[in-house]
Amino acid sequence: MVKFTHDQISPHIIRIIEPGVYCYLVKGTEKALLIDTGWGIGDLRGYAEYLLQGLPYTVAVSHCHVDHVNGAGLFDEVYMSEKDWFMYDAEYDLQHRKNDLKMFGRNYPEMADIVMADFNCKRTDPFLPLHDGDVFDLGGVHVRAVSVPGHTAGMTMFLIEEDRIMFYGDGCTKHTFMFTNGALSIREYLAGLRYLKTYDDCYDTVIRSHNIYTQPKHILDENIELCELILADQDARRQTVTAGTVCYEAALTDEKGQRIDGKTANLYYTDANL
Ligand SMILES: [Zn+2]
Repeated sequence: MVKFTHDQISPHIIRIIEPGVYCYLVKGTEKALLIDTGWGIGDLRGYAEYLLQGLPYTVAVSHCHVDHVNGAGLFDEVYMSEKDWFMYDAEYDLQHRKNDLKMFGRNYPEMADIVMADFNCKRTDPFLPLHDGDVFDLGGVHVRAVSVPGHTAGMTMFLIEEDRIMFYGDGCTKHTFMFTNGALSIREYLAGLRYLKTYDDCYDTVIRSHNIYTQPKHILDENIELCELILADQDARRQTVTAGTVCYEAALTDEKGQRIDGKTANLYYTDANL
């Protein structure tokens, strides 16, 4: 059984850590918002409610991928962009979850003991729609949904306004995956990133869902630059294998996966994104 741990990362935000992925709990004086629901293994609801000590809460999922949406069956009220709803059946599929756990969970010894009974139930109630600009007023802290299509059509980031923190999730990272289920074209992704850029003055810190949980803001500029190079046919476009998938890397890397030009971000995509 997977165990959760947590740490407080800002005045209003608690990071909930499960193997390979993070959820975030934003607490106001009136209520709380849980961002993402993880792999759907273990009792995330029980853990969140233990942290909340009776504070009412709601749940929002950043996008419909296997490691973010699968705890959704535990909760009463879950918001997610309608553009990702169609993906839920495929992302809940047990074989898909087992495959992905094997791929992404291999560094986590806890994952070896997972049995079918540990998987959370499937959500039967419909999701609630989440739109760009929706604001969750939690009492003393506001969380604004920011739609950044690309990684999936419904990919939603969250601005925790008073803490000046933007949750990017998987939507724009050091290693942005565009070969995974539901990804859009590079052209559509670039439009999403340019929209995200308009929020530049609203936050100082970026948090995400995997590995080191913060990243520098210039990752956004580097992803924009990579999209522009891809669209101009001027990126490296070198074939590689990432997360078990044959794809292209947009910028050349060394044997440790670092960009040889000294920059940080890279983008992994396939012909389907062109
Ligand atoms: Zn994802």
